[in-house]
Amino acid sequence: MAHDSARVIIFDTTLRDGEQAPGFTMDVPDKVTMARALDGLGVDIIEAGFPIASPADADAVSQISRDVRRPVIAALARCRTQDVEEAARALAPADRKRIHTFIATSDLHLARKLRITREACLEAAVSAVRLARQFTDDVEFSAEDATRSDPDFLCRVIEAVVREGCRTVNLPDTVGYGTPDETRSFFEDIRARVPNADRTVFSAHCHDDLGLAVANTLAAIQGGVRQVECTINGIGERAGNASVEEIVMALRVRSDRLPYTTGIDTTALYEASQLLTRLTNEPVQANKAIVGRNAFAHEAGIHQDGVLKDPTTYEIMRPQDVGQPVARLVLGRHSGRHAVQQRCDALGLAITAAELEQVYHAVISLGEHRKAIGDGDLRRMVDRVRTDPACKMAG
Ligand code: MN
Repeated sequence: MAHDSARVIIFDTTLRDGEQAPGFTMDVPDKVTMARALDGLGVDIIEAGFPIASPADADAVSQISRDVRRPVIAALARCRTQDVEEAARALAPADRKRIHTFIATSDLHLARKLRITREACLEAAVSAVRLARQFTDDVEFSAEDATRSDPDFLCRVIEAVVREGCRTVNLPDTVGYGTPDETRSFFEDIRARVPNADRTVFSAHCHDDLGLAVANTLAAIQGGVRQVECTINGIGERAGNASVEEIVMALRVRSDRLPYTTGIDTTALYEASQLLTRLTNEPVQANKAIVGRNAFAHEAGIHQDGVLKDPTTYEIMRPQDVGQPVARLVLGRHSGRHAVQQRCDALGLAITAAELEQVYHAVISLGEHRKAIGDGDLRRMVDRVRTDPACKMAG
């Protein structure tokens, strides 16, 4: 279908896989607020919940289906009649709806968790897709634990669900076990072996247990995947999912190596990330790529001097490209004169070269005791130097 295109479909599961993680629970109004932000961000598909799991999940899917009209709204369902019917009911108000049905295909999950045979698994998958197709043309099938499944069996299941009209086949690395080269060849092999592979879009769903979720997702795209499942801030089960902001910016910044596009408005990434932290009361780590508060902060003097002369010396993208306010030159004990001068200029404090020298030493000195030096500190230092030029400001 879309395999030869360079456009990658962004399937956001912040409200399903993300919300499932401990501490990230959101109530229905919060989910609707987040869904509106995801719409503004330009995601193609919002997975809004798992309706059979709870009445609140079903309610969230219904409300989002009513309120958010541009993206496709997806709901999750096990390969069971009741699940699929409940998903269809919750999605009823949506203009564009997707039923996403899943079953594990690895022998480990079949034997230990589901306690069914491969044949029963295949039968359940085919029946669920057939039933889902009665409610919508847009059906996705996920083979849970796909990366640890027997490839021959996995290919049989995929061929069968595609024959039933399944438009998207998602092969999750449910436990975050894959490596990038393995992930790429996994998708290349599956696509080459499934006879009707060209009639469906392949999708990757990578977890971050080894910190490889984004790398694996990019490798999957190189292996022919044209839908990626991801979350804001990378939230999700255990160590989380691949983060939408990292995938999108990797494709954009490294379009020379990864010539693929998305429909995301990158300038809305930071605000979407911030909104999620407010709704869940879970901050992102300071050094988180793209959206962390240090992602565009520079403290070391050599770096600050470079960024002031030309930001591209230490920045591969501009903060405004992702909606971060501005590059932050943090004043601290690693700062240089150039950054102190620049901050004074920005504050309207016209200082002489002699004053700069004194203020600079005061910054270094105070920085020994403090993590960062604020604008108020800097104003006080300048005031002190001016009122008592002979002072030794020990901080
Ligand atoms: Mn998952």
